[in-house]
Order: sequence, then C-alpha cells, then structure tokens
Amino acid sequence: MKRTLLAALTAMTLPLLALPAHAALRILACEPEWGALAGALGGDLVDVTVATNALQDPHQIQAKPSLIARTRSADLVVCTGAELEIGWLPVLLQQSGNDKVQPGQPGNFAAADYVRKLEVPSQVDRSQGDVHASGNPHIQTDPRNIALVAAALGARLAQVDPAHASQYAQRQADFMQRWREAIVRWTAQAAPLKGVPVVSQHKAFAYLYDWLGIKEVAVLEPKPSVEPSASHLEQVLGALKGMPVRMVLYAAYQNPRPSEWLSSNAAIPAVKLPFTVGGTEGAKDLFALFDDTVARLLAAEAQK
Ligand SMILES: [Zn+2]
Repeated sequence: MKRTLLAALTAMTLPLLALPAHAALRILACEPEWGALAGALGGDLVDVTVATNALQDPHQIQAKPSLIARTRSADLVVCTGAELEIGWLPVLLQQSGNDKVQPGQPGNFAAADYVRKLEVPSQVDRSQGDVHASGNPHIQTDPRNIALVAAALGARLAQVDPAHASQYAQRQADFMQRWREAIVRWTAQAAPLKGVPVVSQHKAFAYLYDWLGIKEVAVLEPKPSVEPSASHLEQVLGALKGMPVRMVLYAAYQNPRPSEWLSSNAAIPAVKLPFTVGGTEGAKDLFALFDDTVARLLAAEAQK
C-alpha cells in the first residue's frame, strides 16, 4: 500500500521535476541574422532555432516537415517579411496549426515592418519575374536597420514573455549601446567607400549602399534571383565599357560564377560578402558580420 502510494507520488512529481527552472521562450528565426539578434536580446531566456543557414538562398526554401514541426512548437517567429519568405513561410505557418504565430499575432514578428524600405516599385508587374513587391527585403545589410529592428524585437520579447520584461529591457539597452558604438566605428572605417561604383550580382545590398554611399551601376541578374545567361553577361559588360567600376559583389549563398566571369572580363575584383551571420568564416556574430563586410570592401577598394 505504502509502496503504491510512493509510486503514484513519484509518477506525479517526476514530470514537474524534469522541467527546467523556467521554460525558455521558443523562437523560430527565418534567417541567421534574426536568430543572432534574438539570441543577443534574449540570452538564456530564449531557445532559438534558425530555419535557414547563410549558404541557403532565403528566397527559395523548402517547407520541410522538420520546419513545420519547429513552427508548431514556437512561441515567437522572427522573420524578415517584405515578401522575402513568401514562397515558404506562409506554408509553415498554415501547416503548423499554431495560432500564436499567425500574422497579426504578437508571436509573429516581421523585421522589415520597422525600417524604411528601399526600391519599392510604383507598380508591380509579375511578368518582371520574382519581384520584391514590398520593396527590397534585404534590410540586414545596413547596421542602422539592425538597431531599429533590435528596438522593436526587444519590446516584442517583453510583450510575449512579460514575466522577464525587465531582463529583456536590460539586455536590449546593453546591446544598443555596444551597437551604436560599433556603427560609429564601421562608418568611419568605411569612409573611403563613399561614391565607389560597383556591380551587384543580385540586388542584395541596396541598404548597405545606402548606408555607405556606394553607387550601384549595374546588376548581373536580369531579374531578381534569375541566373544571368552568357549573352546577358556580355550585354552588361558592354554597357560598362568606359564606365568606372571598382568591384563586383555577390552574397555568400550565391553561385559566384557570374561575378567571377565579370571579374576576369572587366579586370575588377569579385568580392564575396557574408550577407548574414555565418556567410563567411569571419562573420561569426552580428558585430563580426559588419567587421568582415567592411574589411572585405576596403580590401577590394585598395586593389588599384
Ligand atoms: Zn532578393
């Protein structure tokens, strides 16, 4: 009788004992930069999973069952928005059956809602290929945007996990101070890049150029995310004749061949930029992402 009671008590209390001191807020980030930011702002109060890595094209991800399962168990989904994930995130959200993370709910955070978008088309013509109808979604290439998103995400963490609001506020204040100091440093380091004319493989760096005053004179892709053909590359090369161009830039996730072709035919450096956390060996966190981006641009600019 006694043993039975003990067994019953053990069965009742064990699941409780197995719980951690507090259950971390479960976050699913669509891209590595937002996973890194959520980790920086949440520390050990959050348990972050990232849906993609830096070597995957975030426009084109498969809505795999493993991602649907992660969406189902998430308390908060942190994505870029601005239609970057239009091909896969709606599927994840629908298939997850998780009411907390649907659009419009506090558990659904879209970073692009908090920045001024560039390249918003005045009219959208779907025949123009995979257009970015809400404007250029690659907002993470300007650290000033990261600051805006950090402010909004810090507030959102406190909203969905109010028990830890003061801790989120403290972490956010600490991050913001270090980030503002870093922006001053990067901006000063990057001064020689102002006005430098470049070619982009994809329209991936509009915000980076806006920040540093870099001039995009041509794009290799004929339409967003469409690989340029040999004849299209010849056309771009012809259009660049007589124009000063200093380098061609591509994101780490992209096939480098179009940029390498232009590099050898126009005798300019082809520069791989990390684009997000993990895109290069140096870009280990958000701070290192911009350290490495600025260093790579300056190294190419120094090649006369
Ligand atoms: Zn794009």
